[in-house]
Amino acid sequence: MKKTALSLGLLTAFVVNAQSIKTTIDLVHIKDDKVPVTMEFPKMKSGDVKFHFPKTVPGTYSVDDYGRFVEGIRFMDNKGKEIPFTKVNDNTYALKNAQNLSKVTYLVNDSFDDEMDESRHKAVFSPSGTDIEAGKIYLVNTHGFVGYIDNMQDVPYQLVIQKPNDFYGTTALVDQDKSEATDTFTLANYAKVTDSPLMYTKPDYITFNAGGMDLVLGVYSPTGKYKAADFKENLEKMVVAQKKFLGDMNTNKKYAIMLYLAGTQGPQIKGFGALEHHESTSVVLPEMMPKEAIDKTLTDVVSHEFFHTVNPLKTHSEEIHYFDYADPKMSQHLWMYEGGTEYFANLFQIQEGLITRDEFLQRMTEKIANSKNYNDTMPFTVMSKNVLKDEYKDQYRNVYEKGTLLAMCLDIELRKLSNGEMGYRDMIRKLSQRFGENKPFKDDQLIDELVAVTGYPQIKDFYNKYIAGDQPTPYAQYLNMAGVEIKKQETPPIFWFIRDPQQTGYDEKDNAFVFDESSAQSTFAKNIGLKITDKIVALDGKTINIQNIQSFIEYAKTIKEGQNVTVTVLRKNGDKTDKIDLKGKAVLDKMTVETLAFKANPTPAEKKLQDQWLTGKK
Ligand SMILES: [Zn+2]
Repeated sequence: MKKTALSLGLLTAFVVNAQSIKTTIDLVHIKDDKVPVTMEFPKMKSGDVKFHFPKTVPGTYSVDDYGRFVEGIRFMDNKGKEIPFTKVNDNTYALKNAQNLSKVTYLVNDSFDDEMDESRHKAVFSPSGTDIEAGKIYLVNTHGFVGYIDNMQDVPYQLVIQKPNDFYGTTALVDQDKSEATDTFTLANYAKVTDSPLMYTKPDYITFNAGGMDLVLGVYSPTGKYKAADFKENLEKMVVAQKKFLGDMNTNKKYAIMLYLAGTQGPQIKGFGALEHHESTSVVLPEMMPKEAIDKTLTDVVSHEFFHTVNPLKTHSEEIHYFDYADPKMSQHLWMYEGGTEYFANLFQIQEGLITRDEFLQRMTEKIANSKNYNDTMPFTVMSKNVLKDEYKDQYRNVYEKGTLLAMCLDIELRKLSNGEMGYRDMIRKLSQRFGENKPFKDDQLIDELVAVTGYPQIKDFYNKYIAGDQPTPYAQYLNMAGVEIKKQETPPIFWFIRDPQQTGYDEKDNAFVFDESSAQSTFAKNIGLKITDKIVALDGKTINIQNIQSFIEYAKTIKEGQNVTVTVLRKNGDKTDKIDLKGKAVLDKMTVETLAFKANPTPAEKKLQDQWLTGKK
């Protein structure tokens, strides 16, 4: 079987050669952490040429401007003469009368080295980023290395990676040459290029078959703390469960997982998580995590990315199908693409027995609590459509919180309507059968399509109120139908800088408390004009360090309502950092904690719905 695929691949490479864009990424001749790239073009379709790097790529929902990592660009004609160009913006180069353009060369810098300095540009999410460390690791997210020409995105690419002989590339692509010094791949178009990341390291990988799918896991662990084999048992169990959960919705024959574990010595990065592709996922986690925590995170994160193979990768609207890398248009349906996917990543674990019922409820409890950090009356469709804009981008992470809960409530609603016969998963399955990888739906017709595939017009009311409307979702009402109640508890009043003190982080370099940009500020913090990006270094002159954190917190606990307080912060001001004192009267916030619990005595109807919901059985 393998041999057939290989010879077919070679034939394709041979046939398309003359008409393909040969792109060589040179991982051997690295200069100052920069990788030389050469692209050789077939005949130009027009003399006015626009050459781009992506502004963003599918799945990241942020403006990243990959062109800003490129330098020393030179365009050449077929006689080797340089062609003049105009740089239009970070990502785009314009050439006039360039019929004879045959080659472009440039150097690529990595994005990992740039993550901590956000003074000029917001950091690229690490799993979507690039890392170049000669002799150690090359994280080749192809969209960071390879550009495209307007109107030539559908020309095939021949991708050649020149690599150190003793390096192995983890990827879902099949290498078409026998050489140890190069890997050669043929890709049908630019979208396939950006869908195919590779990770080159000294070999540490495992392969196995689970549920009829070939898997490869490649690991980069800078100190050698972990080996790929350490994660096999957990991963195998998880993959079997997710394949079972998806059934005929998943047709993947192979899947590659690139696990990059970030050490303390390498580039300082913060974007932990993963990015989805049709046949692979790139995952970035801190190497210092204990094995059990990595196993758990891999189950949550890799399954989430794997469920993306259904949605949006194979079922999506035109905005995603005809993705515009230079000027992306966003879909309204992140509630389904991200929320529904995250819901699957939790639901399959309870349905396939990887977690208990209580653990499942605990997860939903946390999602309800986290969702309160965001604007609950902003229609999800509006946030989604505008997520690249500054006024909306801080709401993005609610797709993993409220987005999940919307899918959960819709699941319960559908089960109620269908007497347990149909749930969210069945609806997505029907939608994927009606559309598919090559047949996008119209973005503003999704709800009508969902009504058509389910046969329940009532879900349009749900959609209009809670997804496209501004009404907060009544979680208690839906959970109640499934025999779950919400218990409310009020915490004693506390003095702190954000509403949920649990979300406080510690910055070792500056000995400061730091916060996630999506955390909600406390009333006091708002009153004194604290910015969520400020780093807190002292409270009433008492400084923080790793040894005295406990006594610092004890001091904060003694602060009374109305007491005068001085908070010293480090605040970014262009290229420099200011140290400022913010003063005000203390305000103590109370927090209401909501906990989900199974009812002790559910009605027979509630119990039945609960079982159908949590087992997936009819
Ligand atoms: Zn996702």
